[in-house]
Amino acid sequence: MKLTRLLLVLSAGSFMLVSGSCNGEKSVSDGAVEKAEKLVAQMTLEEKIGQMSQLDLGYFRDQEQLKQAVRDGRCGSLLNFLGTEQVNELQRIAVEESRLGIPLIIGRDVIHGYRTIFPIPLGMAASWNPEAVRQAFRISAIEASSHGIRWTFAPMIDITWDPRWGRIAEGCGEDPFLASTLAAAMVKGIQGDSLDDPTSLAACAKHYVGYGFAEAGRDYNTTWIPEPLLRNAVLKPFHAAKEAGAQTFMSAFNDLNGVPTSGNEFTLKKILREEWGFDGFVVSDWASVTEMVNHGFAEDEKHAAEIAIRAGVEMEMATTSYYDNIKALLDDKKITMEQIDDAVMNILKVKYRLGLFDNPYADPEAEKKILDPAFLEHARSVARQSAVLLKNENAALPLDADKISSVAVIGPLADAPRDQLGTWCFDGRGENSVTPLKAVRDLMGEKRVNYVQALPYSRDRNKAGFAAAVAAARRSDAILFFGGEEWILSGEGQSRGEIDMPGAQSELLEALAATGKPVILVVMAGRPLAIGRELELSDAVLYAWHAGTMAGPAITDLLFGKESPSGKLPVTFVKGAGQIPFYYYRNNTGRPATDASWTPFDSIPTVNPQSSLGYRSFHLDYGFTPLLPFGYGLSYTTFDYSDLTLSSQVMKMDRTLTVRAKVTNSGEMDADEIVQFYVRDRVGSITRPIKELKGYKRLRINRGETADVEFTLTASDLAFFNGHKTVTEPGLFDVWIGPNSEEGLHDDFILE
Ligand code: BGC
Repeated sequence: MKLTRLLLVLSAGSFMLVSGSCNGEKSVSDGAVEKAEKLVAQMTLEEKIGQMSQLDLGYFRDQEQLKQAVRDGRCGSLLNFLGTEQVNELQRIAVEESRLGIPLIIGRDVIHGYRTIFPIPLGMAASWNPEAVRQAFRISAIEASSHGIRWTFAPMIDITWDPRWGRIAEGCGEDPFLASTLAAAMVKGIQGDSLDDPTSLAACAKHYVGYGFAEAGRDYNTTWIPEPLLRNAVLKPFHAAKEAGAQTFMSAFNDLNGVPTSGNEFTLKKILREEWGFDGFVVSDWASVTEMVNHGFAEDEKHAAEIAIRAGVEMEMATTSYYDNIKALLDDKKITMEQIDDAVMNILKVKYRLGLFDNPYADPEAEKKILDPAFLEHARSVARQSAVLLKNENAALPLDADKISSVAVIGPLADAPRDQLGTWCFDGRGENSVTPLKAVRDLMGEKRVNYVQALPYSRDRNKAGFAAAVAAARRSDAILFFGGEEWILSGEGQSRGEIDMPGAQSELLEALAATGKPVILVVMAGRPLAIGRELELSDAVLYAWHAGTMAGPAITDLLFGKESPSGKLPVTFVKGAGQIPFYYYRNNTGRPATDASWTPFDSIPTVNPQSSLGYRSFHLDYGFTPLLPFGYGLSYTTFDYSDLTLSSQVMKMDRTLTVRAKVTNSGEMDADEIVQFYVRDRVGSITRPIKELKGYKRLRINRGETADVEFTLTASDLAFFNGHKTVTEPGLFDVWIGPNSEEGLHDDFILE
């Protein structure tokens, strides 16, 4: 069956408005297990199958057919369906006209905002600010719930090392620790203080698991992840999401070590249920059950349904292999009624916890909160905190709006309202975006802004607009170039083989740099681009990602010094696609490279005397360092790190160790600094990473002031899976406190 994905809403006029009982009464969410048990006992098989089926609007011929399916209890969940009136009418049918009155659960992708769009999650990760991220997701939940959505397919917490992969935009980057802290914050924001609050949504930790390791970054591709890597990195954010109370998980598209993740008993049953004790429900990804046929893991859709049900995928998204085959599978004794009952129980528990049985309706008044000025202000603040200053030669930034007479605003993304919203943005609207051009004009006045787009979109290679851009640059005191990637170049199914600045942007930058005017490059992109050349050409580079509705004002705040940039990279920036993967917590080799061992490419002798190239681990052309390390980011001020102290040089297994340092703002501006804490386990029963992030803090430090920072380690912080079991091994450990993964004050201690 071919399903089309409909993003549109059923026409409001064709549904009768039924106002729900939104009286704010607190519904009872405890006792969910008992209630679900009781309900399951009364259900027919058809009703049970209905609960296990999540359908998209495209499935239904017309609204009558949809209503009838709900009335018949054949559909327990809908996705991509929204609108207060429509949801309320369907909920009314479910509750009042279906035999058992089971409410629907309406799901939607609210990945980085609903109408108030925040930076893409990778951008939010660059803020290293879990509290700000929690609030962003709270706001998203408030907005989405006002349209009847009580479940979102977020957070997306796939670790990836591959910037070619388009979905890097949707996750928190490469690091398991940073991603885990943010995953927990996202879940808390989505689910709120109490699940049965009408503004709370059930979160969905996705894509479980390993999806970010698609071969060569080609979306949906095969993944091979050895168990130590799976457990020590890839699973970490998912565990954090579960611990934060995530009610649902989404099985993924990928084949993991030969077993598709939507039929993977090891990850779904053994790890998620048995080891972690997860008691919510698992939904498949879109058609990921039936795609097991393509994977060559299932003979046909019936077989796929059997495999997925046995593995513990309780709800099927979009396809109907459950709907079509469960009865036959039971008759053939391929699955058991107990498996079906367990699945339905888990789904109903979540519906009870959300308070849907007490009040399934959306309050028609609630949507007035959408785009609330306070929400937009938070979006601006998060966008500001997410931008990373990568270069600032001769203090090219900040600009002083009072001192400069005019600026040239140039580039394909200066005034691209939809592009700045980024990928996975179903509900955000370009018309609500404030672009950089608008924000700079608001600040400087229209006359002092010389705007030439020059390239209408990022991939454009037509140089016809270059002359006008150069002329505008010559008339101005500084050049603000807004480049990067259109939103369509990242996201699902949108992977790239090369990760450079597309189109003729670099050539345009070259032409602008040749004017001798200061070039300030603002990159708006969905992935870390290989921008070595662009860094050279520019005096200052601010990496703003796709920063959302308020990108313009946020970026302008930073360019003109209202606030200092403070974001730090949540992912290593590589020099070119050939350097992928490059991540900071890599293992050492037997032949680690050093400056002394590497011969710059152009100095390689034409006749190689065999030993001259060092026999070390590097690329002849890239060398052995990335373009920019994980954790990197500059500020308008300077921070000095000093006085690293350990509470002891010896840590006992059952005790803690405290590591302290001082950080002084020695520059001229009050600013935030993200202080990072790394550890290395020198010798292990399996080789250990050369550094692992174990803590971080975003601190406000006013100029001239010194902050004390402190991180505490326990034995469990140092634990790892060694292929057989999880262990903390005694021995020597390094510690660093510093501004990024390559710099920092160092000491060591013994664990015994
Ligand atoms: C994506 C999921 C998403 C789902 C529903 C799939 O294609 O992989 O992340 O939640 O569609 O829109």
